[in-house]
Amino acid sequence: MIVIMKPQATQDEVTQIVDELKGMGLSVQTNTGVECTVLGVLGNTVDADTSALELHPSVDRVMRVSEPFKKANRKFHPDDTVVKIGNTAIGGRKLSLIAGPCSVESEEQIIDIAERVKASGATFLRGGAFKPRTSPYAFQGMQFEGLELLQEAKRKTGLPIVSELMSPKHVEFFEYAVDVIQVGARNMQNFDLLKELGRSKKPILLKRGLASTIEEWLMSAEYIMAGGNENVILCERGIRTFEQYTRNTLDLSAIPAIKKMSHLPIVVDPSHATGMHWMVLPMAMAAIAAGADGLMIEVHNDPKNAKCDGPQSITPDAFCDLVNKLRQTAEVVGREV
Ligand code: PEP
Ligand code: MN
Repeated sequence: MIVIMKPQATQDEVTQIVDELKGMGLSVQTNTGVECTVLGVLGNTVDADTSALELHPSVDRVMRVSEPFKKANRKFHPDDTVVKIGNTAIGGRKLSLIAGPCSVESEEQIIDIAERVKASGATFLRGGAFKPRTSPYAFQGMQFEGLELLQEAKRKTGLPIVSELMSPKHVEFFEYAVDVIQVGARNMQNFDLLKELGRSKKPILLKRGLASTIEEWLMSAEYIMAGGNENVILCERGIRTFEQYTRNTLDLSAIPAIKKMSHLPIVVDPSHATGMHWMVLPMAMAAIAAGADGLMIEVHNDPKNAKCDGPQSITPDAFCDLVNKLRQTAEVVGREV
């Protein structure tokens, strides 16, 4: 349930309504928006007398929220959320460009890529250290050593790090080692992991599951937020469809859908969505044109010999070209690179 206060409601009047709701055993999230204050009410609201609440002169209206996601719902929080990460942020006018290899492979590789993507305008460095591979015989990532190399790259370039966490056992280490914890598509519904991350304060980049609906995806965000961590960034990375030409099908329509349903920022990963390096640029431009808050792009300095996802990785030079082309697209939709 949400209670929308009148624009002229005073702080005392807001407090009075909050106290009344708490007196009914409900919990309240206060969102002071640009136009008015919206109170998001959680708990058993079935017995709440909405008409009595509406009699308060400071209350504009009371609405039931029919969707199962509450904290992730735009009705609860009408303004866009901007997730702060150190002295940068995801959401807002400036686009976030998360670039780097699928996997960290060596010190030379990650430092070279980090320096080159930074020079082109990347705002975050990505790199997998713990890799979710379909085959148990495939390269599983450099694991803890990979995280150390990412930190080294951060020291050299200043780029904050995004890396994927697979096990609830590693939460504490990731909290210390990275700036944004990535939850991969395969773990989107690993509820124990999501609950653990709800207890953290670290920003979480939550990828959409391989075959998940938008509502299921938002319910996974809700798990993290329900635990108290509201720093969630959504990442559309393509979904399974009958089409075999591309690795996945990039659901561009998820961008405006998320913007309507939720206040959380959304970035798009055209690399995993298409599986082909030459499709990354057009899909990146399309994602920004459709309203995405940023991109996650796989960049490798030697794609042919990459240990993982070489065919979808672009070179640092191609990334530089992409950023330059993106400037024009961004400007058209009132954003900046
Ligand atoms: C990745 O980002 O390298 C990755 C494994 O992505 P996804 O979970 O989207 O497949
Ligand atoms: Mn990958």
